[in-house]
Amino acid sequence: MGYSYNPKSLCADEFINDEEILETLAFADAHKDDLQLCYDILEKCKPHLHPANEHGAMITHREASVLLACEDAGVNAAIKQLAHDIKQAYYGNRIVLFAPLYLSNYCVNSCLYCPYHAKNREIPRRKLTQDEIRAEVIALQDMGHKRLAIEAGEDPKHNPIEYILESMDTIYSIKHKNGAIRRVNVNIAATTVDEYRMLKKAEIGTYILFQETYNKEGYKRLHPTGPKSDYNWHTEAMDRAMEGGIDDVGLGVLFGLESYRYEFAGLIMHAEHLEAVHGVGPHTISVPRVKPAMDIDPDVFDNGIPDEMFEKIIALIRITVPYTGMIISTRESQAVRERALRYGISQISGGSRTSVGGYTEQARPHDTEQFDVSDQRTLDDVVSWLIDQEHVPSFCTACYRAGRTGDRFMSFCKSGQILNYCHPNALVTLAEYLTDYAKPDTFQKGFALIERELQKVEDEKRRRQCVEAISAVVHKGERDLRF
Ligand code: SAM
Repeated sequence: MGYSYNPKSLCADEFINDEEILETLAFADAHKDDLQLCYDILEKCKPHLHPANEHGAMITHREASVLLACEDAGVNAAIKQLAHDIKQAYYGNRIVLFAPLYLSNYCVNSCLYCPYHAKNREIPRRKLTQDEIRAEVIALQDMGHKRLAIEAGEDPKHNPIEYILESMDTIYSIKHKNGAIRRVNVNIAATTVDEYRMLKKAEIGTYILFQETYNKEGYKRLHPTGPKSDYNWHTEAMDRAMEGGIDDVGLGVLFGLESYRYEFAGLIMHAEHLEAVHGVGPHTISVPRVKPAMDIDPDVFDNGIPDEMFEKIIALIRITVPYTGMIISTRESQAVRERALRYGISQISGGSRTSVGGYTEQARPHDTEQFDVSDQRTLDDVVSWLIDQEHVPSFCTACYRAGRTGDRFMSFCKSGQILNYCHPNALVTLAEYLTDYAKPDTFQKGFALIERELQKVEDEKRRRQCVEAISAVVHKGERDLRF
């Protein structure tokens, strides 16, 4: 049956329309050497350098795909520079930190790239009890984390929604020393509107679901059996999540599985679709690349992308969907993460363990790991490294808790209020981290950074309030102060 492209449709075949993607790629090939066109497209992004004054339109998936195909060194340098500048305009130099928490690796699916696939008889299956979750969360709180992304395989018997909800409740309830988890993002398989409604009620932060691949044929090959094998059910999940009241959703592609140019066009079309239907685009976009894991050799997927192209994709996502948070995990090395931060990443994980129960083990366990972790530094090492590069490590969760989610967050973000809210909140939460968890060296340079960064808070009254809040954190032991 023929489908035609319609970003407003609720049918996956229409909003991620194969024919439209193929035409987009042909259009990109036909125009990739037209440097005037490339610079004209970049020009269209420039209003985003002033998010407070201008409500610039986004460039389209076709235009972004032309830039992706262009091989001209000058254009590519201009893309990276613009991505850097747009990121500064929207996000400044703050980097939000989080950690994944693996609850269960039971899974009934058969994703060919994932070690949790049902046919893997070698991997020990494990599901955390509520007591074990408590121990993991205390370990994470003791590192200084305030945000988690919970992860679980899809298994209605072992990991039903009740288990996820109970686990969220447990996580939010733990108050150990000065620790607290203030935002729980959830990365679980596509589900029903009713279950999304339950997650909303349980105070989910962002609902994260990676598309893995937008190429329907490839998707079917990579997901031969199990509920996840239904491409439309998976691709339409974000619409159901939004119908269920979750207005912060996180997209992502698992790069390496299929052609990156197809994935990139699909990803941007998905963002355009969410904007067109719900009036609010993705809260975050993640950019995972396939990694080695038990029973998984990434070399069997022949679409791996080199670092240079990976960075270009990050830069292009930043200029095409400027308001969206962009996440990079410890799948990537320190060196790659360092460059990616420049071109658009706004959130990173730190001190991560990707195995079920990994945080309570002394040595990093590998037996139930989902993928090899490239960046194995501690959270304090990551914080210290960010400070060295003049990034502000942020543990802020204020927007979500003040009800600034979905379109309210977007208009807040677009109206330039960020410097008077996000920056002070980042500094206060960094002061909390430094006071409670940092090593002496990190403590010293962290507070020196706070001194410098306070000058950026434009509003004088807000700056004074921020100084007072930091003083209350350090001297009076107050916690969870926010604007
Ligand atoms: N079971 C849920 C689902 O299927 O969406 C939760 C997601 S899973 C725990 C988290 C993500 O890890 C997957 O969506 C996939 O993109 C990624 N992943 C799986 N295997 C991987 C590998 N070998 N390397 C890198 N990332 C991988």
